[in-house]
Amino acid sequence: MDLLVSASSVHGISDRSGPGWIHVAEGQIEASGHGEPPREADLHHDGILAPGLIDAQINGAYGADFAAASDDDWTRIVTRLPETGVTAIVPTFITAPIEQDVADLHAYADRLASTHEGTRLLPCHVEGPFLAPTRRGAHREELLIDPTPERVQALIVAGGDALGYVTLAPERDGAIAAIGAFTSAGVRVAVGHSDASASTVNAAVEAGATLVTHLFNAQSPLLPREPGVVGAALANPGLTLGLIADLYHVKAEAIRVAFTAAQGRVMLVTDNLAAFGMPPGKYELGGQVVIVKPDDPARRVDGTIAGATTGLDACMANAVASGVLLEDAIAAVTSVPATALGHAQLGHLRPGAAADFVLLGADDLLTQQTWIRGAKVFDRERLTVRD
Ligand SMILES: [Zn+2]
Repeated sequence: MDLLVSASSVHGISDRSGPGWIHVAEGQIEASGHGEPPREADLHHDGILAPGLIDAQINGAYGADFAAASDDDWTRIVTRLPETGVTAIVPTFITAPIEQDVADLHAYADRLASTHEGTRLLPCHVEGPFLAPTRRGAHREELLIDPTPERVQALIVAGGDALGYVTLAPERDGAIAAIGAFTSAGVRVAVGHSDASASTVNAAVEAGATLVTHLFNAQSPLLPREPGVVGAALANPGLTLGLIADLYHVKAEAIRVAFTAAQGRVMLVTDNLAAFGMPPGKYELGGQVVIVKPDDPARRVDGTIAGATTGLDACMANAVASGVLLEDAIAAVTSVPATALGHAQLGHLRPGAAADFVLLGADDLLTQQTWIRGAKVFDRERLTVRD
């Protein structure tokens, strides 16, 4: 199929936005440019055309937790996520017994190799079990352990190419050596659920860490004489920072601080749970019960925030409403995560890119259409009831 799409504002072709077009053929961007298209467009959108959204941290959605999802659950999730503009995800498996992590990684490697429809599955994220008990959030304390060489090797071997990154606390015994082992094996490392000092975080970066998991949440805060994980994250140019812009995990001022201090290094993530896209009620996260009430994030029984239930397109709109420039907010869900995770064909619309793109409302940034591999997989018009 050969398709020319134009829009009044195209992002992802160059470092500026404006009227433009993309030419799609065989699932790829064949050509693209600003200004008048080379022929009459097959589809014109009076709004924003942007690369497909990439969610670098998601635990589940539409009623299923990835750690316990059936084949039908996975199919439902990758079929429905395009409703929020999401064309690629990094499924996250939270702290579990290490044997369970190994089993999950084997199963995920098989799934990655056999799933070719809907939202793309990218190499996954294992969050834990090498985390700080004092910053554990929803992770089970009795399962938090040190990253011994044997444990690290077990995850590397089980994950292979299906393991994208691991979140760990760099202050744990053996963590700096573990970072070296993971990154030498091609697995990225994020600092998170950590009480580390800024100097320990900087040592983690020296050892190869490149990411920070959900900036501000479950980590040592910025204090003047101990800048903590937050201070090191904002100051160290070697780190890309995940941020949950649902306005519950972080408020508008914190979002603006992140985008201002770490320009071009913020990637918005949802950290969504099984409860995303579902009515309020009780759901599961890594074997624990979480409760979702109307207009509130998911919480553990003790009240701790345990994950989010806001779509990635809505998080992007929240960032803009918080005062972040539109182009920076779009980059934070497209080019920034693609670059940070090493997916050169995603996150932009230059020739050779995957033909994954979204048409967004000019004002509300709501996803109107989502295309993956050059095919339309979601169209909001079809959901609209007409008189
Ligand atoms: Zn977390």
